[in-house]
Amino acid sequence: MEKHVYLDNAATTPLDTRVLEKMTPYLTDIFGNADSPHAVGRKAMGAVDLARDRVAELICAHQNEVYFTSGGTEADNWAVIGSVLANATEKRRKIVCSPIEHHAVLSAVERLQKYGFEIEWLPVNEGGRVETNALESAIDESTVLVCLMMANNETGVLQPVKEGVKIAHEKGALFFTDAVQYAPYMPIDTKEIGADLLSFSAHKFNGPKGVGVLYIKNGVKMEKLVGGGEQERGMRGGTLNVASIVGLAEAYALTRAEMEKNNEKLQRLCKIFLKELGGLSGVSRNGEKEHALPSVLNLHIDGVENTALLYKTDLLGLCFAAGSACASASVKPSHVLTAMGFDEKKAKESVRISFGKCNTEGDALQGAKIFIKAVEELRKF
Ligand code: PLP
Repeated sequence: MEKHVYLDNAATTPLDTRVLEKMTPYLTDIFGNADSPHAVGRKAMGAVDLARDRVAELICAHQNEVYFTSGGTEADNWAVIGSVLANATEKRRKIVCSPIEHHAVLSAVERLQKYGFEIEWLPVNEGGRVETNALESAIDESTVLVCLMMANNETGVLQPVKEGVKIAHEKGALFFTDAVQYAPYMPIDTKEIGADLLSFSAHKFNGPKGVGVLYIKNGVKMEKLVGGGEQERGMRGGTLNVASIVGLAEAYALTRAEMEKNNEKLQRLCKIFLKELGGLSGVSRNGEKEHALPSVLNLHIDGVENTALLYKTDLLGLCFAAGSACASASVKPSHVLTAMGFDEKKAKESVRISFGKCNTEGDALQGAKIFIKAVEELRKF
């Protein structure tokens, strides 16, 4: 395949070869079903136990609070549906949710609405942040669950989760936070964050696709989402994806160990890209810069539709996103930018550039050059 400059790391990241090395034996020699009681199965389960211990230690949790899932989408669906079904009462039927959540959360919440649960959507400021006073006004004694992500996948803007948890707990509500975009760049300490439920996904931090974690705080009542066998302490059916679970733990351990060094590089790459873009008129950054991930630039390009720009740059050898990956095939304006008050035109003229640890300064420079060329060509028409 022709080499493209890849600046879409919020969509997914390449597998770290050190992770692949750790996974390979579990795809070949150590192939047992982790739930088989014989020696071959026990070997596989030993690897899963070790992976669970490693993840638990890194996120300051107990190992029985870590549940492996098929990724962020399943973890998000389970968090929302499982907690609401297990904890709603006649008096507690309201879900408080930010409108900038990933579709995995939004669709689960909207599904529950069809079954009679009430939703209160939180307002978002023009910088892409939910303000603490909005949480204070929305959460009350009728709230069963609050959903607010750690960091948004389109803008990278960090959300006031710790403050939200405090308010929710004062009112007796549960708190779920999607940490899928946060996990690659910021350390997760479940004790400090305080949320009852927290999700993340391996492919966002150079681990394998199709594996994630749902942290469920001990004592939180949950219904299962995926029924079947008695895997995951009877809470999630399905033969364990041993190699991917091993890969997730290894990728997360490497991410945590190398986080500081990688974040410095990501900040540098963002600066280089923006500096190189400096000569281009009508470019502005969307979302708060002060409370944001070091890896994401959401940019408004005046007068240029993001889908046209995406096709043009793709032909010239650059990959990035028009909004989030899951929504980029749709022509609808981003629900995140719309919630921030953008009109349809401005939302459709915005793009997401996201750097990862595998990018180089050369990628930032080359990427910016291609970007400028594509914008200038499109502006001629
Ligand atoms: N939550 C957020 C914030 C995401 O960015 C994504 C993926 O883009 C998901 C959830 C879904 O995760 P997965 O791709 O592992 O299903």
